[in-house]
Amino acid sequence: MQLTDPTLLRQSALVGDRWIDADPATGIAVTNPATGEIIGHVPKLGAAETREAIEAARITQKAWAARTAKERSNILRRWFELMMENQTDLGAILTLEQGKPLKEAIGEIAYGASFIEWFAEEARRVYGDLVPGHRSDARIMVMKQPIGVVAAITPWNFPNAMITRKAGPALAAGCAMVLKPASQTPFSAIALAVLAERAGLPKGLFSVVTGSAREIGAEMTASPTVRKLTFTGSTEVGAELYKQSAPTIKKLGLELGGNAPFIVFDDADVDAAVDGALIAKFRNNGQTCVCANRIYVQDGIYDAFAEKLARAVGTLRTGNGFDEGVMLGPLIDKAALDKVEEHVADALGKGAKVLRGGKPHALGGTFYEATVLADVTSDMAVAREETFGPLAPLFRFTDEADVIAQANDTEFGLASYFYARDLSRVWRVAEALEYGMVGVNTGLVSTAEAPFGGMKSSGLGREGSRYGIEDFVEIKYVCLGLG
Ligand code: ADP
Repeated sequence: MQLTDPTLLRQSALVGDRWIDADPATGIAVTNPATGEIIGHVPKLGAAETREAIEAARITQKAWAARTAKERSNILRRWFELMMENQTDLGAILTLEQGKPLKEAIGEIAYGASFIEWFAEEARRVYGDLVPGHRSDARIMVMKQPIGVVAAITPWNFPNAMITRKAGPALAAGCAMVLKPASQTPFSAIALAVLAERAGLPKGLFSVVTGSAREIGAEMTASPTVRKLTFTGSTEVGAELYKQSAPTIKKLGLELGGNAPFIVFDDADVDAAVDGALIAKFRNNGQTCVCANRIYVQDGIYDAFAEKLARAVGTLRTGNGFDEGVMLGPLIDKAALDKVEEHVADALGKGAKVLRGGKPHALGGTFYEATVLADVTSDMAVAREETFGPLAPLFRFTDEADVIAQANDTEFGLASYFYARDLSRVWRVAEALEYGMVGVNTGLVSTAEAPFGGMKSSGLGREGSRYGIEDFVEIKYVCLGLG
């Protein structure tokens, strides 16, 4: 793989204004999940460097917040442009460390950049209010001010977009950010920091601290300077960070696990539903928190849908993300592969049938065949746990109220999808699903303009959209006596 600009693949972390180079002997090795080869190293940093980055952020944030919104907006806009100018290189770095097909990775860069663009625009619209008051000789004003220093911890499944969706609103609002990227995919984060520097982001405003998650996370959560923690990852780690943040009463933004239902009613357009299921289930090889995890199909069209989905899934080529025509890459690691194998074995042991795939791919490594299972039932592990892999389990249902109850019978509440044409049903079901996001007759809902986030154990807060910036501001009420 040849980058147009090789300086974007940098084996260093950025702590305040200090680049720290990795020592291959002590650093964290980053591997290509498609080949197992080591791509390079990043420094293994800990509490001391995290503290240093937080302190740099504290100092820089004040000056950043004092700039006009337009000045902040212009720098963010430049960052967005640089991302798009380097889209192919950033995509290649992403495929190298994450495994998703190059075309999909390049698509993620555009998606990730769109959050910086959107929040560059939103930076100028953080309006306050003038409220009709309680006394004739006083006025009530409400202003919004940046919350201050923000810490971010991000996952490996979207190594670019999960960062920009947090950094965009934080920096637009006038906050500073200290980021700990996933250790599997730090190079995409570091490349963003390189471009942020080129865009003119002040030194110290955006640090990327690589290293031990536990140590860095502990320092971030314990710090009274950090006023907000924004995290995307598992519910288990999210709950731990929530607990760790309690003593300093931080504001929390949590984007956690999902267990998305995908419901196909008898009156649906079956071909459209198959297309939607392909996207909702197999995007990023099933490794997104909004991936369809349980596919419920109504009796009348179950067999037709199952047959068409199995045929369509058969056309998805699995392989190295750099190879032409590949639609599905490897799973991120061995643990991810084990989970898919466990879910398939559990389902087959309890009576499910393989329509397509069902075993590790002949390519070996962490490749797994795109799989469709029929006759899946609620007693199987796939009904309760997020598979995070290329497994489409088909459940059969007859009754609308019953399928809604099943869809809602989970601790999670992130994304949900359904296909139907009857207008009353569309309203009824959209209102009844206990999920932060509902895709109706579409398998893809994420975009910078819309609020992304979950209910119940899927998290707190919303990212993207005009609501996304709210989590990064404090509301201040000023009562002005006219005496
Ligand atoms: P995933 O299943 O996506 O790997 P994790 O929740 O394990 O989800 O990881 C998401 C992010 O959280 C990663 O950046 C990881 O390094 C970080 N992380 C994992 N454990 C901890 C922890 N105890 N404290 C802070 N961060 C953590």
